[in-house]
Amino acid sequence: MQLIDGKTVSQAVKERVRDEIAHDGLKIGLAVVIVGNDQASRVYVNNKKKACEFCGITSYEYALPEETTEEQLLELVDTLNNDGKVNGILVQLPLPEHINEKKIIEHISPMKDVDAFHAVNVGRIMIGDYAFLPCTPAGVMELIHSTGTEIAGKECVVIGRSNIVGKPMAMLLLHENGTVTVCHSRTKNLAEVCRRADILVSAVGRAGFVTADMVKEGAVVIDVGMNRNAEGKLCGDVDFDGVAPKCSFITPVPGGVGPMTIAMLMENTLRAKKLQS
Ligand code: NAP
Repeated sequence: MQLIDGKTVSQAVKERVRDEIAHDGLKIGLAVVIVGNDQASRVYVNNKKKACEFCGITSYEYALPEETTEEQLLELVDTLNNDGKVNGILVQLPLPEHINEKKIIEHISPMKDVDAFHAVNVGRIMIGDYAFLPCTPAGVMELIHSTGTEIAGKECVVIGRSNIVGKPMAMLLLHENGTVTVCHSRTKNLAEVCRRADILVSAVGRAGFVTADMVKEGAVVIDVGMNRNAEGKLCGDVDFDGVAPKCSFITPVPGGVGPMTIAMLMENTLRAKKLQS
């Protein structure tokens, strides 16, 4: 069994982005909008800021109070859509309940939608002609590539069908000619389906969900889950100690998929700049 080191792979992606920006002398800006005081969101936003600094991207942070109205947020998005210094716009989710997330996302210019959540970008992912890749699934693809595993023709099982992880993940694996099965809470014989997987990606959000009996000998296992265990420690969906001995490659949590998401955001911001040039 070999560990897939997300810190090393994500560092390589950020260095690639940094070197290209420096080489081409690009001026790139990313606007990060956060509404309210969600502590986890604050941590993510700070990490995004640090990654921007590393890559040579200017980050513009808009920290708005909890009581910000939908109207005010739409106005800010308008301003950022029209601001030539801003190449990418990221509105940190979740938003407070009184703001319609879908409406805000659909208001971001698809050319600046570095999260790839806008329906136009989601549609492009479906047809395989994408400007931006959704950050977390794109990060998973980088991790799989880093192992040298060929995806074409392999049985790939994705557990989870959310719009931000499971569905786009399945699409990216399909574009690389994997034979893809998507599982969810209504899937029958889940363990049996998972045992077919040469590549198993879990994005459920439940600690200890994937156990050794669900994993084929020699599988590549990617754990997208970010959960807290009974002791409050960050952990994934996979029972790591039980599953790891059966795998050819496995991601740890933390230090697996997590660092990749921000690295891919940096790459998308660079892509946005190129699209707009
Ligand atoms: P989500 O929207 O809650 O989706 C979870 C999916 O898991 C759903 O499709 C659900 O099925 C499925 N599921 C739930 N219980 C199941 C069961 N018993 N059997 C089979 N499938 C089941 O979550 P998400 O946003 O995709 O995120 C998933 C996990 O990834 C979370 O832990 C999240 O924190 C983590 N995450 C990590 C990163 C990162 O950067 N590392 C980024 C994004 C998300 P139904 O559709 O049938 O309900």
